[in-house]
Amino acid sequence: MNHPVEVASVRKDPDIIIIGGGPAGLHMIFQAGMHGMRSLLVDALPQAGGQLSALYPEKYIYDIPGIPQILAQDLVRQLQIQAEVFEPDYHWGEQVSRLEFRDDNWTVGTQTRQWQARAVVLAGGIGAFAPKKPRCTALEQFETRGEVLYHPQSVRDWQDRRVLIQGAGPQAVEAAIIAARHGACEVNLVHRKDAFEPAPGQTESFQNLRQSGRIRVHVPYTVSALQGEPALASAVLKGYGTADRQVETDLFLPLLGYGAALGPIKEWDLSLKQGGIPVQPDSMESPKPRLFVIGDLASYPGKNKLILTAFSEAAIAARQAFNYIYPGKRIPTAYSSNLGPLSLDITRPGE
Ligand SMILES: Cc1cc2nc3c(=O)[nH]c(=O)nc-3n(C[C@H](O)[C@H](O)[C@H](O)COP(=O)(O)OP(=O)(O)OC[C@H]3O[C@@H](n4cnc5c(N)ncnc54)[C@H](O)[C@@H]3O)c2cc1C
Repeated sequence: MNHPVEVASVRKDPDIIIIGGGPAGLHMIFQAGMHGMRSLLVDALPQAGGQLSALYPEKYIYDIPGIPQILAQDLVRQLQIQAEVFEPDYHWGEQVSRLEFRDDNWTVGTQTRQWQARAVVLAGGIGAFAPKKPRCTALEQFETRGEVLYHPQSVRDWQDRRVLIQGAGPQAVEAAIIAARHGACEVNLVHRKDAFEPAPGQTESFQNLRQSGRIRVHVPYTVSALQGEPALASAVLKGYGTADRQVETDLFLPLLGYGAALGPIKEWDLSLKQGGIPVQPDSMESPKPRLFVIGDLASYPGKNKLILTAFSEAAIAARQAFNYIYPGKRIPTAYSSNLGPLSLDITRPGE
């Protein structure tokens, strides 16, 4: 018999606020949804996936049950597609700095806003990801003018501009290719050594654009100073064993990857020890009321920091959260196969 799941799409307020959009947080949305609970998810990264998208998007993962191999970034996409059925409210690119329990509710706050819910799931992994910043004079001055971007979003960002990119990873190479093909009037790519790592399928495009001079490569260099008054006009490239250079630019994209820091989580009085918060493994509860911790951040005897562990922990936390949020109500269903067809006829997030 099918029990149609009660998706809380008509309710405005979330039942659960999830801090962290890595695999643990993304699967938490699905597990909460299976119990008819609506989730709001906040992550410091501008996109979903946590470590998978920030540290190893192009690596294959081989230990997801039933999926012999999958690219990390494809697993993230599948998790989002699966969660989308339950209409999560996503807030990307926002770091949670405040977590307070008041009047029987949790308040979760960023620098600019706050939300309330009966339960919070902390899926913060190894901490909030932020772009690595280059050591470069006058960086902040041009950041505030919007002439330094860490997450270029659209072609409009570099249209008719002289773009300077620092980095060698897939993100930097891809940005150089897109800027060269779509509207930038000049593209300079800087790195300490000639060791660029295009994403699979982009090697030939990169080589062609480099050979034709559409992408001008500067190795071995690093960007040491930005100049211009008031607008960004040029950058000094410091050479390693070679003379410094100057290039004209009006947009600097330092694409050096991401670093993670536990940051505010350390201030929340959660007995954090060696990067882990102690929880009850049969409920994933922290000592604080209705505050659950799942994924890499959760600590208990025998803990295995793996994606599949995080998935199971999300299911355990969802059951317990339901009991607290809807005391006395029967848990809707244990098996997804009993739910009847969930509408999976949906477009991918971002399409
Ligand atoms: C190179 C590499 C390869 C790996 N390969 C495998 C593998 O093959 N199989 C496997 O099972 N595991 C693998 N892992 C481990 C796996 O990636 C982790 O176990 C998994 O990512 C943990 O998921 P999570 O959701 O708990 O945390 P994370 O993936 O770390 O996500 C946490 C998210 O929380 C956000 N966050 C933290 N604090 C805040 C805050 N205050 N405000 C807003 N957002 C915040 C972060 O920005 C981040 O996006 C690998 C890890 C690495 C580094």
